[in-house]
Amino acid sequence: MNISDTEIAWSILQKAGYSRTHELPEADVVLLVTCSIREKAEQTIWNRLKHLTALKKRCQKHKPLLKIGVLGCMAERLKTKLLEQEKLVDVLAGPDAYRDLPRLLSLGYRGQRASNVLLSLEETYADVMPVHQTPEGHSAFVSIMRGCDNMCSYCIVPFTRGRERSRPLSSILEEVRMLSDQGVKEVTLLGQNVNSYRDFSEQHFICSEGSTQLSRGFKTVYRTKQGGLLFSDLLDKVSQIDPDMRIRFTSPHPKDFPDEVLQLIQERRNICKQIHLPAQSGSSRVLHAMRRGYTREAYLDLVENIREIIPGVNLSSDFITGFCGETEEDHQETLSLVREVGYNVGFLFAYSMRKKTHAYHRLQDDVPAPVKQRRLEELISVFREEAAKVNMALIGSTQLVLVEGESKRSSEELCGRNDGNVKVVFPKTDLPIQPEKPQMVPITSGDYVLVKVNYGQHDNKIELIWLCLLSLVVNPAAGF
Ligand code: SAH
Ligand code: SF4
Repeated sequence: MNISDTEIAWSILQKAGYSRTHELPEADVVLLVTCSIREKAEQTIWNRLKHLTALKKRCQKHKPLLKIGVLGCMAERLKTKLLEQEKLVDVLAGPDAYRDLPRLLSLGYRGQRASNVLLSLEETYADVMPVHQTPEGHSAFVSIMRGCDNMCSYCIVPFTRGRERSRPLSSILEEVRMLSDQGVKEVTLLGQNVNSYRDFSEQHFICSEGSTQLSRGFKTVYRTKQGGLLFSDLLDKVSQIDPDMRIRFTSPHPKDFPDEVLQLIQERRNICKQIHLPAQSGSSRVLHAMRRGYTREAYLDLVENIREIIPGVNLSSDFITGFCGETEEDHQETLSLVREVGYNVGFLFAYSMRKKTHAYHRLQDDVPAPVKQRRLEELISVFREEAAKVNMALIGSTQLVLVEGESKRSSEELCGRNDGNVKVVFPKTDLPIQPEKPQMVPITSGDYVLVKVNYGQHDNKIELIWLCLLSLVVNPAAGF
């Protein structure tokens, strides 16, 4: 999300005549795009700010105009407190105020400190073409919606990023077409709640009948939205733009997976068969306290339905350990859910209390920090075991891999990802342009290659790295 916000802010600044440097000493303006989701994310920014403000003090003589700005969720959460506390911060811009950056910075140059932390009901930056900046340039994030209406009891997002609103479909399609023309091979549709996408601006297209988007057994805290274009309409249109372009999306909410979406994922070869399904807990009691709108049973029914419609799908998830009132029994239920589902990737966190949330006002943060941490470690270890099983099952299979570049471990190896988002490492070799043709070409990032998995190994993180034997370059549109 922060990469995407940076690309939007950067596009606005570029139009206003700014140019970008990656060398800190060259910069006249330093902007930090921030996250508030957990205390730890904010701590990282505080450390960085300390470093930057010390730098600013040091170079006050030869660079009196150096400006420091804080963008995004932390600006929104702390508002002017941040200006008061960090006296050397000059500019604050909340997630909906990036268009105002040139004005805010110009005030900063006149010695004033400037802030805009207004949240909007409409801002989607639909007309701002982000300047994409992934290192290899073959994959890009495309923001499709902003904000969140779910109000999970632990979560700050609805307060820092505001109400949920979707970017018009036409502007998303325009951006994806442009990326395809630039040779981008993988697009990740981005939002806090991607699958509750609703474009009310183009109702004349008429969406799927009935238009209730909810998965069976799930409910929302808000009234079900009616009309508009749905996530299935968006996926349908985006995936038709370029059959060689992989489509991923994150982060979805389990409540918005009706069969139409699942069937579309199954049918379209370029929509990756990998679904992020944040569970947060395996205990219905805790899920209720979290206000997630589903029970363990409803979640497991959804997993079964997904696996029935998309056989072989890879599932990943988010979990929080030590939420208010979580008992040892609840924790065991979470471990058993992880064993039962068998995810291949997990994002696991110890609960971090956030001001303004329902949990902050109404619940007790009563699980001691060492217990949260111990439960987190247990969860990580069960996750690793299960992920290893899922990934080991790939040994002997042939995988279509989108090449990202050299592997971190060696310049003799390349790495990329398979459809299920598992990292694949393989030897750097030349390959024939077409099977049985003598002309050999080096493999470069953005190529699709077929690799035979012959070895699996643990990464430091939860997923596995595969060391593979290379087979041949393919045209993914022709199938394999
Ligand atoms: N919209 C996404 C979540 C985005 S936040 C969703 O609903 O799945 C990413 C993850 O951060 C959440 O899934 C949750 O696991 C974690 N998270 C959010 N608030 C947290 C908190 N207060 N403490 C610890 N983890 C938290
Ligand atoms: Fe936060 Fe829940 Fe919204 Fe995700 S769905 S951003 S966890 S409030």
